[in-house]
Amino acid sequence: MSLLRSGAPEGAQEKEELPEPDFLRLPQPGQCFSARAARLRQLAQNSAQPQFLRFCAHLAQAQQQTLEEFPAVPLPDADVLAQLDGKLPPLPAHLYARAPAWLEALRHLAQRMQTHAPQGSRAALAALARARAERLETYADWVLHGARGERAAGELDEICAAVLAGALQVYWTRMVTDLARRIPGALGRIRDATCCPCCGALPVTSVLRGAGQRYLHCALCGSQWHMERAKCSHCESTYGITYQAPQPADGRGQAPSVQVEVCSACRHYLKIVHAERDDTADALADDLATPTLDARLNEAGIRRRGVNLMRLCEGMPAVSRAA
Ligand SMILES: [Zn+2]
Ligand SMILES: [Zn+2]
Repeated sequence: MSLLRSGAPEGAQEKEELPEPDFLRLPQPGQCFSARAARLRQLAQNSAQPQFLRFCAHLAQAQQQTLEEFPAVPLPDADVLAQLDGKLPPLPAHLYARAPAWLEALRHLAQRMQTHAPQGSRAALAALARARAERLETYADWVLHGARGERAAGELDEICAAVLAGALQVYWTRMVTDLARRIPGALGRIRDATCCPCCGALPVTSVLRGAGQRYLHCALCGSQWHMERAKCSHCESTYGITYQAPQPADGRGQAPSVQVEVCSACRHYLKIVHAERDDTADALADDLATPTLDARLNEAGIRRRGVNLMRLCEGMPAVSRAA
């Protein structure tokens, strides 16, 4: 029996009479990572890889603590933002000059995670916490620009890559929420609707909210931006979009919390997380918990669009790209 079934989009459709949805939903710094940690602990209970999900739950909880301790960081001023004119996001991941504070966040995370990491990764995490700034900045460039070949060569294992990416997530989340508070109106639409309007990173998944509103969830800063349903998040085609979901073993059961949107025009896919069915669902956590969907689509030659910084692996696109 096939794991996947095709069909019409599930969930409510967008209705013309509904009010225009907010374009941007910013991360909630008081609970964005702790809510993810809770979801990961829940998903680990029925997972084929519970240890990895529990590790990610500990990491998300440590990210929450790190975010709450994160110092104020330099931000672009209003004059710089005015020059961008919607062509670039205000905090572009691919060219932003990172403040040293992110390195301190990384060192704290690497130390905190040593007791939760698999035995084989603890020494590597300790080395990561002690590494020189230049080395860590190079690793960050690898993560943000998608140079997984070098990482696979042995310098940064899966656990260390997740911790390093976790520090970058905390840093960008801090910047986005601080910028929104300091300069109201600084964050909004940019020319490229397929990447995050705050930092330019790719989405990890779509999140479907009430009334069929679809948001793309940024893999890096955690912002969500609105994109209408039935549109490819990669090539923006509105034709040839199909939806697939895990087939319940007995053909019945609850509707799944994760679907896949496949574009036949560019042969890319992006998962859809149904937050309107389960308000504990999380864009990153629910993606991590459904690797079988990725395996089946990759077997069919359909390329993944979403990037998950907790599990950077072959086949994922770069987190961000040059403008
Ligand atoms: Zn972003
Ligand atoms: Zn497409």
